[in-house]
Amino acid sequence: VPILDTAFFRRWLELAADAVHRESPRLTELDSPIGDADHGSNMDRGFTAAALAVRTDPPGTPGELLVSVGRTLVSSVGGASGPLYGTALRRAGKALGDTHEVTPPELGEALAAAVNAVRELGGAEPGDKTMVDALLPASHAYTGVLTEGGSAQQALAAAADAALAGAEATVPLLARKGRASYLGERSIGHQDPGATSSALLLACLRDASAR
Ligand code: ADP
Ligand code: MG
Ligand code: MG
Repeated sequence: VPILDTAFFRRWLELAADAVHRESPRLTELDSPIGDADHGSNMDRGFTAAALAVRTDPPGTPGELLVSVGRTLVSSVGGASGPLYGTALRRAGKALGDTHEVTPPELGEALAAAVNAVRELGGAEPGDKTMVDALLPASHAYTGVLTEGGSAQQALAAAADAALAGAEATVPLLARKGRASYLGERSIGHQDPGATSSALLLACLRDASAR
């Protein structure tokens, strides 16, 4: 059973910074036909800066860590994804309060707070071909597994699977928010870059719990 303490969230951040760096070319490639070909470099710059900030000035609680990551993303990533992910993580951190060990239901509440923050700030509905299409099913899957009596690790595995399925399911959708929406019908047939990075971040959360 994973302990959801500050070390767990630090593991997540290190895995996320590595994964985003490794997948940066692919995220940028996805952002080429339906965006401005910068999603990989945006995410790489943001998570590299966030990991550095946390190594330099280690936060004392999970909440403080997530707020720090959110703040760094807002200040270091231009474009839509910086404010959206930044606000999501800050809101998730605030939802955790000053606890040192997060309970599985509290992690579910933090995930829900993150999704709600993205939806409030960006105004995207499910099916609009955005990161919401990966984040919302992940949040629901997490809560569903816990409700059925599953562990946090099982719930995180289900959340990662749901996020990946959600990202893949953006391919046939028409984009209604962000740059991709400027393309109208021509946005159909491409996977959304932000939904893809959301799936990556949730896979890292699952992997952080498996150690
Ligand atoms: P930009 O489009 O400003 O270059 P990025 O390329 O870093 O920013 O991020 C693009 C991603 O941001 C999209 O693939 C989409 O998932 C997400 N996105 C854009 N606008 C919104 C929005 N209003 N609500 C939710 N997500 C959005
Ligand atoms: Mg872009
Ligand atoms: Mg851009």
